[in-house]
Amino acid sequence: MTERPDFNDPSLPTIVVGHPAIVNFRGEEVVVPEGLLERALEELGQLEVRLAAEEEISFDAGERFLRQVYAVVDRVGEAVSPGMSCQSGCSACCRVMVATTAAEAALIGRRMERALERERSDWKHEIVNRNELLDRLAERSYPSSDLTTFGGLLETCEMYERENRPCPFLGSDRLCQIYEDRPLLCRVCWVLTDPADCSPGQGPPIKFRSRVFEKAHALCGEISRIHFRDVRVSPIPYWFRNDG
Ligand code: SF4
Ligand code: SF4
Repeated sequence: MTERPDFNDPSLPTIVVGHPAIVNFRGEEVVVPEGLLERALEELGQLEVRLAAEEEISFDAGERFLRQVYAVVDRVGEAVSPGMSCQSGCSACCRVMVATTAAEAALIGRRMERALERERSDWKHEIVNRNELLDRLAERSYPSSDLTTFGGLLETCEMYERENRPCPFLGSDRLCQIYEDRPLLCRVCWVLTDPADCSPGQGPPIKFRSRVFEKAHALCGEISRIHFRDVRVSPIPYWFRNDG
């Protein structure tokens, strides 16, 4: 068998997935269809060009671009999903701080508007609760961590993970209740390692590294800047802290 790559090496090539040495925790080799990631990168590149040339600046246009980014990333995920460790109902990764851009948060906001009153009210209750926790954790630093920046998120994310609190949108069946509208990080959080390694205090799990994800993330930021005039990144609940 080929030597196992160093998954934490930042100079890794375009993909870690598909490296011949990659085997999942079940001992199966994970193979990526030839050209899959190259095609995805090309599609994201085309989207980037169209985004720069788009004349209509609006939330609707931003949402259309965002959904196209998600579609590209999801196609990659579906193609390699048979080798993944992740299963429906496996949700330790829904207990970490998920950084989200303005465009992604707007999509979730629209999902909340479409929800039934009872569902929306349950989510809002959880959101208030999670924001109280986030504020408390942010205040442990001096000066307080700014939870609208990556720096602030980095200062608090480990403390948040130790609290082991589920995302406000995680159902009691451990399924995401906003699955079609979930943010990018939830779409690219795949591992090959034992799901038990994802639990706090275990692991660490081995996450995939791919330039497709990096490019998709950069595009989410660009869509937010252009169509939402907002370059902040925040944990999901934080975007809704002022919602009644
Ligand atoms: S990242 Fe870990 S906890 Fe999340 S679905 Fe995959 S195996 Fe399960
Ligand atoms: S949005 Fe959904 S997938 Fe993402 S952390 Fe929340 S419950 Fe989990």
